[in-house]
Parts: sequence; structure tokens; C-alpha cells
Amino acid sequence: MIATKAYAAQSATAPLGPWNIERREPGPHDVQIEISYCGVCHSDIHQVRDEWGGSIYPMVPGHEIVGRITKVGDHVTRFKVGDLAGIGCFVDSCRVCDPCKAGEEQYCAEGNASTYNGYEMDRKTLTYGGYSTSIVVDEKYTLKVSDKLPLEGVAPLLCAGITTYSPLRHWKVGKGHKVAVLGLGGLGHMAVKLAASFGAEVTMLSTSPSKEADARKLGAHHFALITDKDVMKSLRSKFDFIINTISAPHEYNTYLKLLTINGVMIVLGIPPEPSQVPAFNLIMGRKSVAGSMIGGIRETQEMLDYCAEHNIASDVEVINIEDINTAYERMMKGDVKYRFVIDIASLKK
Ligand code: NAP
Ligand code: ZN
Ligand code: ZN
Repeated sequence: MIATKAYAAQSATAPLGPWNIERREPGPHDVQIEISYCGVCHSDIHQVRDEWGGSIYPMVPGHEIVGRITKVGDHVTRFKVGDLAGIGCFVDSCRVCDPCKAGEEQYCAEGNASTYNGYEMDRKTLTYGGYSTSIVVDEKYTLKVSDKLPLEGVAPLLCAGITTYSPLRHWKVGKGHKVAVLGLGGLGHMAVKLAASFGAEVTMLSTSPSKEADARKLGAHHFALITDKDVMKSLRSKFDFIINTISAPHEYNTYLKLLTINGVMIVLGIPPEPSQVPAFNLIMGRKSVAGSMIGGIRETQEMLDYCAEHNIASDVEVINIEDINTAYERMMKGDVKYRFVIDIASLKK
């Protein structure tokens, strides 16, 4: 076994602190990665605080992982020692169900092995995430990372990047579309960058007046405060798509009014409490509320390659591991520009 330093939550109410875990020795198809950076996703907070139910402790969060390969199994063909590599939100899946065969392992019929707060496919071995110094994963579930972009800015692509890229591609969002992005945090800022890069006209909808200048720098053509009733009225029936990344409980109905006929609100945010949607708010205008979850391995690689080619990385604030609890508090206040990323060197000290 490989002794590995980590940071863990011991319960839903305890702050995260140092904890030691063991990784398996790499099997024939595994790679061992020395982690350089790990992004901090709002899903980490939801799960650490057991806001979705069913959390398993001690929990080592983190599913936006980049680092370098330090060891490969005998049958590994795609990676060699020294290569950059990335791990996203899952580390295995059943491999034989229809979604897995279609490359949509995020929707594995058996339930995939989530990178943390879950079990390997043996359903016995707990998984631990990227707030740690190393990880061992089958090469099939490991992504190739280019050296063209700053590594700390690549880490968040493994969740925030693919979670926004996948629905934008699925709904073929591009030139001629008016897209609103709701919530300017980790997912929101990647949604703005990618939707603008695909040619859409992007409006940032935010609660934070202080984020306007940044939203425009990220590529938004317009900015509107959702707290301003007059502005919200002026935006009625304006958007083909709304990418909803809000993490806190909120009313979908407020935003459905902003959709044009046939408009789609794509829900990405996972607040702990549901929103009710009356039938009238959908049938009037043939509107849809849809959802999307991360992306499969093939599409995640496609996204990483697209971002490397188009010079798209996440805008990050790099923190040391001991600042993680403060980072969570700041994210709860929407005070994030626009992804916290842990420098894992701070965990090795
Ligand atoms: P984040 O960085 O904390 O950003 C969330 C943003 O939402 C905030 O910065 C804020 O932006 C806005 N917001 C927060 N509370 C709000 C409220 N009460 N009303 C309106 N806006 C509010 O979070 P994230 O990492 O981007 O994650 C966002 C959500 O997506 C989380 O629920 C997460 O679990 C989920 N998620 C889903 C998937 C998936 O596969 N579908 C993948 C990853 C994450 P403003 O300051 O601009 O208002
Ligand atoms: Zn995430
Ligand atoms: Zn499957």
C-alpha cells in the first residue's frame, strides 16, 4: 500500500483537517499520479456537509485533479512515467451497460465509482479524492493533460469545465443563440468562457454587482443583476438557453420567464432543496427544464483538447491546504474568483 497524506472531513460539522490514507499499489492497468493541484468544487461542500444525504466519513473530497504519473502498471499503454494526467469525478464504472458502451460513464446504469464519497466497483473499497498527495486509477479513467496551459488552471476543467462543455455541445449551443449564465462561480465562469467561444451571445445573470467587470473579461457580452426587478422584467422571453449553476435553494420560476418559446433551462447546480415548477410555466412557450451531469471520459478528453487548442483555462485563486475551511466559507458567500485550487505541495510539508 502507498502511504498518502490527505485532508479529510470526519463528520458533517467538523472542519477539514490532516488525515493519512493508503492507496493501492498500481495493478496492471493502473497509473499512480503524484497530485500537483486539486480544484475546490461546490459539490465538495455539499457532500462534506452532507447536504445531499448519504455522505460517508472520513471523507477526502476533491475531483478536479491534475498531476504527474509516477508509476504505471505492466499493461498500461497510454501513459508513461513523467506524463501529466488528470482525474475527474469518477474513477471507474461497470464498462458493459449501454451508457458505458456509449462513452457516457457518468450515467452508468450500475452507478459509477465516484472519485470520493463512494466505493470502487467492488462496492467495498472506499474512494478518497484529490485533497491528497497521490491517487491510483485505471488508465481508462485517466485523462491526458497538455502542457500548453498553466496546470493550476487546468484542474477545474476536470469538473467545472466538462460540466459546462457537455450540455453546451449536447444542445448545440453556438452562433445565433442567446445564452444566459446564472451564477458566476466555478461552473458559471467556465460556462461563460465556453459559450462565448462557441459563438453564442452570452448574458451573465448574477447577484454580485462586483463581478460585472470580470464577467465581461471572461467573455460575457451583457451583465444583469438578478436582484434588480426592472432589469429582470426587461429580459423576459429573451434567452434560448439558461445555464443554471446556482448552488443555493432558489425558485426556477423566476428564470423560466426569461426563456423564449422553445427555450431550455439547463440545470447544473444541485441545491439541497427542490424548486416546484407549475405546469403553466412550461406549457406557456413550450419551455423545458433539463439537467446535465459532468461528462464521459471521451468527451472530457475532447474538452481538455479543445481548451488547450483555444487557450481556455480556469481563472483560479491558488490556496494552501490549511486555507481550505476559509475557502469553503468564502464560497458560501459567493466570494470566489472563480475557482479555488489547492496547491498540493502545501500538503507534503
Ligand atoms: P460556486 O463556485 O460556489 O458558485 C455558485 C454561484 O452561484 C455563486 O458564486 C453565486 O454567483 C451564485 N449563487 C449562490 N447562491 C445564490 C443564491 N442564493 N441565489 C442566486 N445565486 C446564487 O459553485 P460551483 O462549484 O460553480 O457549483 C455550482 C453548483 O453546481 C453546485 O450546486 C454544485 O454542486 C453543482 N455541480 C453540478 C455538477 C453537475 O454535474 N451537474 C457538477 C459540478 C457542480 P453570483 O455571485 O454571480 O450570484
Ligand atoms: Zn465538481
Ligand atoms: Zn455502466
